[in-house]
Amino acid sequence: MTTYALQTRNLVKKFGGFVATNDVSLNVEAGARHALIGPNGAGKTTLINLLTGFLEPTSGDVILNGEPVTHLAQHQRVKRGLARTFQINRLFADLTVLESVTMAVNERIGIGARFWRPIGAYAEAVDEAAQLLATLRLLDLAHEKTRNLAYGKQRLIEIALALAMKPRVLLLDEPAAGVPTSESRELFETIAALPRDVTILLIEHDMDLVFRFADQISVLVSGALLTGGTPDEIAVNPKVKEVYLGE
Ligand code: ADP
Repeated sequence: MTTYALQTRNLVKKFGGFVATNDVSLNVEAGARHALIGPNGAGKTTLINLLTGFLEPTSGDVILNGEPVTHLAQHQRVKRGLARTFQINRLFADLTVLESVTMAVNERIGIGARFWRPIGAYAEAVDEAAQLLATLRLLDLAHEKTRNLAYGKQRLIEIALALAMKPRVLLLDEPAAGVPTSESRELFETIAALPRDVTILLIEHDMDLVFRFADQISVLVSGALLTGGTPDEIAVNPKVKEVYLGE
């Protein structure tokens, strides 16, 4: 039986009279590397914002690990295992990579803001952060200040911060945006190597990266799902070709 980590059911979002999300029923399988593609203005960002709870839908549902979360606040969805990458300005330029990720781990554990936290708990958080850095191949940069890192590495740290929440589903909104091509391939290889217990939903406009990374692709056009399938199916789908010919 297929298990879905994240679903939407007949999701609709209207801005005034404009339908930005049009009856979208998306199914993201547990463990998938699922990419959401579509031309500019197709409604990808709006859909991600509905998934995270940044936006309230006009109607329909968002379902996380089989449970509706449609009316839960963003932080409640994070607690239930839905994380997204932070924007670049969430990084504290003066902290080291290890300090930044340790802070995020502490935030999850809930001891970050407390003055009297036990020393042992802090050491455990550092260990966990170091393990995360190893997973993301960042361990050799642990003691560098985040400001001194290449942009591609900074984007990886944002992913580390999201993973520090121990999510079951990770939403990546153009993780390679602004990253030079020379770094973006490596960035994607690292993301692709993440453990499969984290389901990934990716928005990415670079089709080379999408087809290399994804095992499932959903195509959004004018707010509605046009089609979905494996990269091989999507590559030969005439409807998809038609949409992208005009780009
Ligand atoms: P994409 O991420 O695929 O480029 P968006 O989700 O950003 O698409 O936008 C989809 C459509 O919804 C666009 O036509 C955009 O102008 C419109 N839109 C997005 N957010 C708003 C908003 N807050 N108010 C009005 N229209 C919006």
